[in-house]
Amino acid sequence: MDILELKCWSCGKTTMLEEGVVAQALKHMDETKQEFFDVPCPHCEKVNRTKKEVFVNAYVNRHEAAKERKKKKD
Ligand SMILES: [Zn+2]
Repeated sequence: MDILELKCWSCGKTTMLEEGVVAQALKHMDETKQEFFDVPCPHCEKVNRTKKEVFVNAYVNRHEAAKERKKKKD
């Protein structure tokens, strides 16, 4: 399930991150005591430095976000 939408600062394309990827990023930031995570854009390969709070919010709100997305589809 995709829970986080990132817009690339370089090419402007949107990248969706799965729940597992977000969880892994959070784990990595906890282990390294970093407040950001570098997400490479799959379209242009530029690194998108993203704040930890963005990941935390996406993870905490993942069920709500999924519901919202489902509602839009119906
Ligand atoms: Zn890009």
